[in-house]
Amino acid sequence: MVKTFQAYLPSTNRTYSCVHCRAHLASHDELISKSFQGSQGPAYLFNSVVNVACGQTEERVLLTGLHAVADIFCECCKTPLGWKYEHAYESSQKYKEGKFIIELAHMIKENGWD
Ligand SMILES: [Zn+2]
Repeated sequence: MVKTFQAYLPSTNRTYSCVHCRAHLASHDELISKSFQGSQGPAYLFNSVVNVACGQTEERVLLTGLHAVADIFCECCKTPLGWKYEHAYESSQKYKEGKFIIELAHMIKENGWD
């Protein structure tokens, strides 16, 4: 059976896909930073993602202070992937608002990586 995902990124772009079901998650062009830490290891910060659903927003104290975050899930296989920054309380962290963290352990690279 062929799975149909909600959204596809252009096949010419370097993309990150869900390691569990291969749904596209983000384009390499949307990558902001690789220097984040998830609960299980390294995590990347993305400007935008696809095929991702958000959970409840809650306040959480992270390494960089208090944030309002929502857990994010793969919309296709429901695996928790990371979180979205809904609100940052410290001005130095404002750039993360509306951005998405995906843990490296849940992604594979596809298309045109050297
Ligand atoms: Zn998935």
